Order: sequence, then C-alpha cells, then structure tokens
Amino acid sequence: MNGFAEGRVTARRDWAPGLITLTVDAPVEPFVAGQFVSLGLELDRQLVRRSYSIASPPGAALEFYLKEVPEGALTPRLTRLSVGEKVWVERKPQGFFTLAYVPPARDIWFIATGTGLGPFIAMLRGTEVWQRFEHVNVVHGVRHAQHLSYGDELASLAAAHPGALSYTSLVSGGPNGSALSGRVTTAVANGTLEQSVGQLLDAERSHLMLCGNPDMILELTMVLTLRGLRKHRMRTPGHISAEKYW
Ligand SMILES: Cc1cc2nc3c(=O)[nH]c(=O)nc-3n(C[C@H](O)[C@H](O)[C@H](O)COP(=O)(O)OP(=O)(O)OC[C@H]3O[C@@H](n4cnc5c(N)ncnc54)[C@H](O)[C@@H]3O)c2cc1C
Repeated sequence: MNGFAEGRVTARRDWAPGLITLTVDAPVEPFVAGQFVSLGLELDRQLVRRSYSIASPPGAALEFYLKEVPEGALTPRLTRLSVGEKVWVERKPQGFFTLAYVPPARDIWFIATGTGLGPFIAMLRGTEVWQRFEHVNVVHGVRHAQHLSYGDELASLAAAHPGALSYTSLVSGGPNGSALSGRVTTAVANGTLEQSVGQLLDAERSHLMLCGNPDMILELTMVLTLRGLRKHRMRTPGHISAEKYW
C-alpha cells in the first residue's frame, strides 16, 4: 500500500460498547501532538481508509481513540480489531490542529465532542501546553455518560498541575453525577460553562481549540463570534481553531 505501513494492534481499551482506544505499533514519520494519520483495512480487496487523530504524544506508543459509526464503512471493522491484528497506518502524519498554530493567549480551552478529545489527550500528555498557558480548560461533551472516557487521567493531570487544569464534562442525554447537563454550545451561550470553570471565555485572554462534531463547531463559532472572538487564520490571527471530524 503506497504511503502506508503495516501496523499491529498491541493493545485495546474498551470504554463502552463501540468506543475504544487502540494502541498500534507502526513506523510513522515524526509528528506533533494534534496531527492525524489515515488508518486503513482491506475490505473486499480494497483499502478503506479514514483519518484519525493521534491521541498520544510524540515518542509514546501510537494511540487512537475511536468510535463505531454503525452504518459506517470502516469503523464497524476497525473497532473490532484484536491485539495482534493488522491495520494499515499512513506513514506521514498531517494537519495544522496543533499548538504551533495557536497564537499567544493566557488561557487555552480544549473543547471536544466525542472522540474529538483524542488530539487534546496527546497535547495534555506533552509539556508545551503547561509552559505556554496559565489555564488549560478541558471541556468534553458526550451524549451518554458512559462515553466520558479518560476521566481518571484528566483527574491525575489536574492533580499534577494544580490550579492550571480544569475539566468539565457535559452529557446531553440528561444529568449525570458531576457532569453538566446539556450541549456545549448552550452551556457557553448561557454562561453555565464559564461559571462552572470559573474562567471568562473572552477575546482578551482566551484561545479555543474545537474538535469533533461539525455542528458543534459551526454553532459554537457563531456564539463566540457574537462575543467578538474570531476564527484564527495564519494571516488574520484570531481566537478559534477547529478540526471537524466529518
Ligand atoms: C482530521 C480528522 C481526524 C479524525 N479523527 C478521528 C478520531 O480520532 N476518532 C474517530 O472516531 N473519528 C475520527 N475522525 C472521523 C473518521 O475519519 C471517520 O469519518 C469516522 O470514523 C467514520 O468512518 P466510517 O468509515 O465508519 O464511516 P463513513 O462511512 O465514512 O461515514 C458514514 C457517515 O457517518 C457520519 N460520521 C462520521 N464520523 C462520525 C462520528 N464520529 N459520529 C457520528 N457520525 C459520524 C458522517 O456523516 C458520514 O457521512 C476524524 C476525521 C478527520 C477529518
């Protein structure tokens, strides 16, 4: 397969039915946290490939945080791979959803829906984010509470960086434990999120990285635009960077 290396699954963690983290051994080229590669499987003699964010930092074993889309072409197979099975991995990581493209700011907000948390896990396991920002506010929105993965690791990171990391989970399907209820966009629009985090989300001090569901990214960008925040572009620096998953 041109441009692809043969990888092997070395571990899998099941968070909930259809929601897993796969660890893969494959010789990919150097990358930075936030980048993605294509993963592929041969199905009916054709390589079916899709893009996946690398959820681990450079130097660590490659991890991917994956969700099954039941009607999808690849994920019903990808999320059933067992340890030892083969997966094609694109050799050259790509993408600009990285801290290198984030302009100076006091606080960074990592806002994810579903598996959009993956690239932020890679960044949080590195060092740059802790050196550059005073507050790192992680926000994870899911439909069902069982899809709130990485909670223990985020709690450990918060303990290791006291006062720097806040972690807020939102469950849109109804209230659950310490998670806020509802959608991320609503919680930003009505001020609940800032109240819960204890930080203002404004153009003076904040940069936001949004990842996952394209509707969340579109709607949240509209809400933030009304507050004077702008999309970040190379030529016109702003406050919002985004990676849409579909
Ligand atoms: C840069 C980038 C990085 C990505 N990283 C990840 C990642 O780390 N983890 C991950 O799970 N996915 C990630 N995706 C999504 C991934 O590439 C696939 O689109 C997804 O896994 C579905 O593939 P499929 O072949 O099963 O479904 P397809 O046959 O390609 O899609 C069927 C339909 O499902 C919808 N769809 C796609 N993804 C989702 C989803 N997550 N939830 C609900 N509906 C969806 C779309 O409308 C699509 O038309 C990323 C996408 C991009 C562009």
